[in-house]
Amino acid sequence: MKKKTARSIPSVERVLQALGPTELPRPSTLELVRRRLQDLRENGGDTESFDDLVDSLREEINASHRTRIQAVINGTGVIVHTNLGRAPLGEEAVRAVSEAAANYSTIEYDLARGERGSRAGYLESHLALLCQAEAAMVVNNCAAALILVLQHLTSGERKEVVLSRGELVQIGGGFRIPEILETSGAVLREVGTTNRTDLKDYARAIGKGTAMILRVHRSNFFMEGFVSSPSTDELAALARKKKIPLVEDLGSGAMADTARLASVDHEPTPAEVLKRGVHLVCFSGDKLMGGPQAGIIAGKARLVAALKKEPFYRALRCDKLVLAGLQAVVDSYLRGGDAAVPVLRLIRSSLKELGDRANRLALALEALPMKTTIGDGQSQIGGGSLPRSVLPSITLEMRPLSMSVQELSSRLRRGAVPVITYIAGGRLKVDLRTVFPHQDETLFKEVYRAFGVLVPADTEERLRRSANP
Ligand SMILES: *Cc1c(COP(=O)(O)O)cnc(C)c1O
Repeated sequence: MKKKTARSIPSVERVLQALGPTELPRPSTLELVRRRLQDLRENGGDTESFDDLVDSLREEINASHRTRIQAVINGTGVIVHTNLGRAPLGEEAVRAVSEAAANYSTIEYDLARGERGSRAGYLESHLALLCQAEAAMVVNNCAAALILVLQHLTSGERKEVVLSRGELVQIGGGFRIPEILETSGAVLREVGTTNRTDLKDYARAIGKGTAMILRVHRSNFFMEGFVSSPSTDELAALARKKKIPLVEDLGSGAMADTARLASVDHEPTPAEVLKRGVHLVCFSGDKLMGGPQAGIIAGKARLVAALKKEPFYRALRCDKLVLAGLQAVVDSYLRGGDAAVPVLRLIRSSLKELGDRANRLALALEALPMKTTIGDGQSQIGGGSLPRSVLPSITLEMRPLSMSVQELSSRLRRGAVPVITYIAGGRLKVDLRTVFPHQDETLFKEVYRAFGVLVPADTEERLRRSANP
């Protein structure tokens, strides 16, 4: 039987020729073709015609090509979406990244003295200023920041980290506080209960083996009811009295007052927490701060200096692209220009603004075989920030007549610029809060393409015209 089918297996050359140029680099096309032919050889190859084989290979090649990292339109309404790359960078930060990327730069060079300089000294001192801290430093992400701090502070005789049972949390996929502690060589000393931990619980747990007190900001969930924990001030006073460091993992790292931006909860800022007497804080660069992926540590100069001397720090340090991007973001904040931070701009978009865009889009899409309506949405901050807070939003809602909503959703994901939507109440929804206004035209075109309808040549005019009917 093997013999019979082996004869009908085409050669690699013939298949490649029939495929012609593909989206994938040649070695990966070759690999896919080889693997498919091997499969046919093993499982019988005479069921499929040559053309079918080539077509299905072409589809496989395209599917593989679509798995590359690429830009998408985020219609989910989740502002800091970890699966979609968290915070998009603003123009200034993008320019800084691209300039640092394409040129030599002063990453570790002192222009005044013409010799080796400190790595990202300007960024560190300005981050410290922004956090109103004595000193600051940057590593790859907040997880790395926490590991570095834990490892340093528990590297001596004292290994115990005092932590409330209410803060033994899991942050995201594979990030569990107790496991991070273990990885760092720290010994967890749990205190209190899930819902209540008193200052006395902390005080009793502190002894000869205590290295530090850790606080983990409950960023991605929310507890209500019979709940209590000591205030930051009380805990800081205890830490001072016992002469041990108090460290807080803030997670989100909001620089602006979120409660003033929109009607959402207040997220503690690093400056506030440090003022209350916390020795070190760590937080992410790419959540509410709106920068590139980074972990920022800010607080006491003595501790930051010691952390920078840890040999392990070398393995956690950021590359020049991240540092250049973060430097631009920090500068924008210090200039009071948080309008340059897209995450904050999205949070602030008004319902009027979103409604106008939705109207324009819905009118412009009228020619397609679907029912397009405008609905109320609920955007989320996401990224494990402000779990209780939803932002009222506006959604573009589509009910196609010629296909299922699932099919439309899948076609939109397969477009030249994939559009990520969600389905609710039998409709396909695009939350316009997370779609940048400059993406409206692309969104329009992608919906047209999803229906297999030629994109009208006067797209721009259609979107404008509908604005003033
Ligand atoms: C998100 C988060 C982290 C992890 O941050 P990364 O920058 O993704 O490593 C750690 N702690 C808290 C409280 C968080 O919310």
